[in-house]
Amino acid sequence: MSMQDDAVQTFTPRDFHRQAHDALGNPQIRANFRKAMDGLMTKRHDSFGDWDLETLRELGANIRMRALAKLPELLEQLEANCQANGIQVHWAEDGEEACRIIRELCEARGAKAVIKGKSMVSEEMHLNEHLEAAGIEALESDLGEYLVQLNQQTPSHIIMPAIHLNTDEISDILHDKTGTERTRDVDYMTAAARSQLRERFMAADVGISGVNFAVAETGTLCLVENEGNGRMTTAVPPMHIAVTGIEKVVEHLRDVPPLYALLSRSATGQHVTTYFNMISGPRKAQEHDGPQAVHLVLVDNGRSRIYQDDELLDTLRCIRCGACMNHCPVYTRVGGHTYGTTYPGPIGSILMPHMLGLEDTKDLPSASSLCGACGEVCPVKIPIPDLLVRLRREAVGEGRGNVPGAGVKRNKKEVAAWKSFQWLATHPGAWRSGTAMAGKLNMLMPSKLGSWTDHRTAPKPAKTTLHALIKRHRKQRSDV
Ligand code: SF4
Repeated sequence: MSMQDDAVQTFTPRDFHRQAHDALGNPQIRANFRKAMDGLMTKRHDSFGDWDLETLRELGANIRMRALAKLPELLEQLEANCQANGIQVHWAEDGEEACRIIRELCEARGAKAVIKGKSMVSEEMHLNEHLEAAGIEALESDLGEYLVQLNQQTPSHIIMPAIHLNTDEISDILHDKTGTERTRDVDYMTAAARSQLRERFMAADVGISGVNFAVAETGTLCLVENEGNGRMTTAVPPMHIAVTGIEKVVEHLRDVPPLYALLSRSATGQHVTTYFNMISGPRKAQEHDGPQAVHLVLVDNGRSRIYQDDELLDTLRCIRCGACMNHCPVYTRVGGHTYGTTYPGPIGSILMPHMLGLEDTKDLPSASSLCGACGEVCPVKIPIPDLLVRLRREAVGEGRGNVPGAGVKRNKKEVAAWKSFQWLATHPGAWRSGTAMAGKLNMLMPSKLGSWTDHRTAPKPAKTTLHALIKRHRKQRSDV
């Protein structure tokens, strides 16, 4: 079984509208997501039970804001303490540099096969493709990631990568790609995948993982997971490479428990996850297991640019729980692949425009009903709806212009139309004459107004304006 022969199925955010249209017409996608998301929303709700959720969210937000306020200093502290622990630290300005660093570390070790734990940053930088182009096989060990890799897809959710697949589809994938029996027995399929992966753990030269929290004061890397594959990835191969975004740093070890409580409950509705790993360096002289070398690759990839903007900086508080996606009426109907980005749903719509630029992602901030559910459930209180509005302004060139590609959606005719409307609405005399005239010309109004009327009927102005009706009504009353 080789992962190298298959091209991964990719979508692009430029085609968001077409992909959304296709997804909405696919009852299987809608059913899979609806069922999965309903379950996750209920579990999250029940898991917080009697907790004072608002106080906990406030605490989580404050911890993240404090870390971001001191980010440069904490990163230096993290580097110093990791190095004191024997963890070698590397800095990457973008995904390409991060891929190169990891490839060179693998090559220096003569690695031919790496095993990976779940890492969205490695998805963001397309690490698997990069390693495979260099002749190094990269195998995903998270069950969901393993399935989407077998199916030549990308994750459709940041926590549950294969959430778009139902039991029958998973059975087909395992049968077609690995020769297991076709079945609806989930335990059988899980055991089959586990035994396939177990052999690969033992044979891997390098293990690559993500990081949930990097603790500056102790140089500790925390990894939250449920399957034990993260622990195997970081402990079995002779070399462990952790890769993460620079924003994942927290100041103190005591900051981790509240964030962990918020993460596990918001993500999967669990009070605690099955595994919580704390990595504090390579194997010591007296120890019998663990990697001989541990590396940490800290990736910027646009995060410093976000950091410069005092509003969009809030995006960096994210602890990647996925709750905003689970509660989003757009994501739950179109699914994750529709967005064509590593991070889909509300978090992706506020994060990806910086990373890819608005030329490619201009439609994502508009892929929201602005119902506010994402902001209400976010465990670190990121004002997602406000940031979506800010990015919509950037897309039409009305923002501060800090995001690459700002103004790409600017339409001169639309701007002129809104300026005229603004003038009319602030000049009462002209407004009254204009609306009276529109009522008289009612029949001449076009029934199509571009994309505004693709899915709705153009409203016709009333023949009599509200002002005229009130005037007439008052007159009738005074006549009586
Ligand atoms: S934006 Fe908030 S809700 Fe969404 S993934 Fe990040 S932390 Fe979770």
